[in-house]
Amino acid sequence: MARYVFITGGVVSSLGKGLASAALGALLQARGFSVRLRKLDPYLNVDPGTMSPFEHGEVFVTDDGAETDLDLGHYERFTGVAARMTDSVSSGRIYSTVLEKERRGDYLGKTIQVVPHVTNEIKEFLKVGDDEVDFMLCEIGGTVGDIEGLPFFEAIRQFSHDKPRGDCIFMHLTLLPYLAASGELKTKPTQHSVKELQSIGIAPDILVCRSEHPIPDKEREKIALFCNVRPDAVVAAYDLNSIYEAPLAYHAQGLDQAVLDAFNISPALQPDLSKWEDVQDRINNPEGVVNVAIVGKYTQLEDAYKSIKEALTHGGMSNRVKVNVEWVDAEVFDHEDAAPHLEGYHAILVPGGFGERGTEGKIKAAQFARERKVPYLGICLGMQCATVEFARHVAKLKGADSTEMNPQTRYPVIDLMNSQVGVANKGGTMRLGSYPCRVQTGTLASKAYGKTKTIHERHRHRYELNNKFRDRLSEAGLRMSGVNPDLDLVEMIELPGHPWFVGTQFHPEYSSTVDRPHPLFVSFVQAALQNHSQRVH
Ligand code: GLN
Repeated sequence: MARYVFITGGVVSSLGKGLASAALGALLQARGFSVRLRKLDPYLNVDPGTMSPFEHGEVFVTDDGAETDLDLGHYERFTGVAARMTDSVSSGRIYSTVLEKERRGDYLGKTIQVVPHVTNEIKEFLKVGDDEVDFMLCEIGGTVGDIEGLPFFEAIRQFSHDKPRGDCIFMHLTLLPYLAASGELKTKPTQHSVKELQSIGIAPDILVCRSEHPIPDKEREKIALFCNVRPDAVVAAYDLNSIYEAPLAYHAQGLDQAVLDAFNISPALQPDLSKWEDVQDRINNPEGVVNVAIVGKYTQLEDAYKSIKEALTHGGMSNRVKVNVEWVDAEVFDHEDAAPHLEGYHAILVPGGFGERGTEGKIKAAQFARERKVPYLGICLGMQCATVEFARHVAKLKGADSTEMNPQTRYPVIDLMNSQVGVANKGGTMRLGSYPCRVQTGTLASKAYGKTKTIHERHRHRYELNNKFRDRLSEAGLRMSGVNPDLDLVEMIELPGHPWFVGTQFHPEYSSTVDRPHPLFVSFVQAALQNHSQRVH
């Protein structure tokens, strides 16, 4: 049976709970344990699928087709353990399950209440797969004291009592603000936050304190005393150059040791951190830099393209270069020349997206990359824009478009499948999760993927390359380098004769991890590097 670590946050949001959880997962793995990470989100949306990326950052998609919080992406990138549908839940999902059961009469006439019905449902969620791993790490979204978080806190309190003594521990993240005027780190907000937790019956075993300054021993002891934790369970979390330094930094601060101590586990061996040392070395000592433009819509909020940014970093690590990402707002050149905005980058990436805004700009970015022979990676909408561009300007299908942008177009090169037309429930028609794709031999894609001929990649979209136009586009020179063997849908396109121009209907970024940088990102960064060196010489 798994042991449980519950991770909560206090004082302020955005302390990096997700990263701390992911780093702890990686450290436990380095000590030979198996882990699974979970996220419990107190908001009332059933899942983040319908939330704007401006609100909540990227929607992360699991292999089994769940639209989840972006923290699951961190978990996966750090531990290599593929997240599942059962690793992410929100209040909305819990309540809708409880209400469904109520309507079905499952509760046999009882009055339905937060305790025990909602809390029981949360506890059921926590238990799924508890016989598969040594440690289950469960992060509670939000901050202690939030009204909507209360049922989750109550549920984890009960859960720790239902389990044998010593099977669950609580780790709480807080902030130690620094007052420049007095030159001090203040511990009071941490004390208050712990009091708040204690008032709902939870006593933290470990405190992770974010601080911009070193925490003096005196303050550490004070926190331990006032918050009722052991001094070595007060773990400092300092700002880092890169998130990938977190496992080593947390290890240096004693986090994994404190967790094992709290469980009374005496490890026989020191952890094997060689992988993270190598990662740190690659991050801190790159042998070059490439500049990649991400031409998108949500460029003010980098979290909207979190997995893409990280996958580029992984591609950079594997090529030993730093990938400098510049965010370019596609809407700016919807109606003007794109060249002045795109010249100088070593590669261009057009990410996924929904709706019309900025699409003409993205189509221009694809045209620029095609004509100027700049490496191009188009993901989902980015592939669709590249297809539209090719149809309009190379296949001479004037006015070609996606029916998402222009339902009346004469040449709907991107369209819904027949089975989806007229379905009203947004989300209901989305192709979500992992689907197989046959990689055609002799293509750039097959070079990138190596020996693997059938790949599995994650999807999140409604529209597809329209099979009615496949022949026209192929004859004009567009190569369909990957096809779904079951549904006969185009999954990848490329341009023979171009140094590196690839479009994917799927999202390769979701499955890139530190251990397994995604082959397309590795190859894309390599192409950027080649472009860079050609310009230099
Ligand atoms: N809007 C497009 C579709 O639904 C692309 C989606 C995406 O890029 N994730 O097909």
